[in-house]
Amino acid sequence: MTNKDIIAMGDEAVMPTYGRFQVAFEKGQGATLYDFDGKAYIDFASGIGVNSLGYGYQPWVDAVSKQAATLQHVSNLYYTGPMAQVAKTLTARTGMANVFFANGGGESNEGMIKLARKYSFDKYGQGRSTIVTLRQSFHGRTISTLAATGQDVFHNYFFPFTEGFKYAVANDLDSVKTACTGDVCAVMMELIQGEGGVLPLDKDFVQSVAAFCAERDLLLLIDEVQTGVGRTGSLFCFQQYGIRPDVVSFAKGIAGGLPFGGIMANEKCKSVLGPGTHATTFGGNPVAAAGACVVLDTLDDAFLASVNEKGAYIRRKVEEMRLPVVQSVRGMGLMVGIGVTCSHKDAVGKMLQSGLLALTAGSDTVRLLPPLNISYEEIDAGLAVLKTVLEGMT
Ligand SMILES: *Cc1c(COP(=O)(O)O)cnc(C)c1O
Repeated sequence: MTNKDIIAMGDEAVMPTYGRFQVAFEKGQGATLYDFDGKAYIDFASGIGVNSLGYGYQPWVDAVSKQAATLQHVSNLYYTGPMAQVAKTLTARTGMANVFFANGGGESNEGMIKLARKYSFDKYGQGRSTIVTLRQSFHGRTISTLAATGQDVFHNYFFPFTEGFKYAVANDLDSVKTACTGDVCAVMMELIQGEGGVLPLDKDFVQSVAAFCAERDLLLLIDEVQTGVGRTGSLFCFQQYGIRPDVVSFAKGIAGGLPFGGIMANEKCKSVLGPGTHATTFGGNPVAAAGACVVLDTLDDAFLASVNEKGAYIRRKVEEMRLPVVQSVRGMGLMVGIGVTCSHKDAVGKMLQSGLLALTAGSDTVRLLPPLNISYEEIDAGLAVLKTVLEGMT
């Protein structure tokens, strides 16, 4: 099989929902991928922030293989070891009270939205169900999470969307306060808007929103689907913002490449979703949870410090390139945004041709989400490609 064979087969039988790049990957090792023609690529994308520990990380491979051979699934009608272990680790390391497991980001956010509405319904009755989100946010592709996403381009075709979402301007406290009328039950946001352009929120703004929410008994919902699980240099990004959210969603990087996600609730919200109110067949799947155990064990303080060092190294190196097309370098940890004046899509396409996977974000940003354990050799090799490509752009 060559790239061409795989692409032809895919084009014929897979829905054309993605404008896919013309490459098919066969295998990976570390932060390096190989396509079906044998060409090597440095991976600064990690499956959109999913492959936290890169490819072929032996403890992860061993744990996942062993769990697949031991017990692959039993449903949430029963308990399993890996699921209980992940919940215990997450709560112990975040101060949150308990966890609901799902399979991806959009689905996790659905659970967070349901929890917020039920919290308010239980306490205040109907009519207090609106959730305020931010412009430029991204919360998923389901009918409700599209509605929660504060970008008009996503509010098309699929009418009617779930009602009960309102949008405020990021880093504008007055805008949030104005949006929080009597029908509102929660404020939901990403701390670094990922898809929207790698836009970190101001600490002051986030802390003021948190205080405002606490005062009004509005739930503070933090979408950490992209920023969570070590990506920004702490286990969760909220831990660097000095806030205590009511509910936090996570997914992408949690299981190192397997579908997994969920929400964590604080003491106040831990009993809102009681028996029969929320469920998912695959949530907490033992194989994915075994992968998550390895990811969480690997992300100790020393490892998280190395994520910060590598992120700072990348940002510094890009700044030192003094490229005319680069306007700004943003981000935290290994979530890096490079604002460019050229087409970000063309730049990422050329990087792929030259052996580097990178992502776009927003309208003008090249986004880097490398595996958290990427080596400095691979970082340097990837940055060399990035430099050559951006030097050639106008
Ligand atoms: C990717 C992402 C989602 C959606 O996750 P899926 O697993 O694709 O459903 C939601 N929120 C944020 C912040 C994301 O980055």
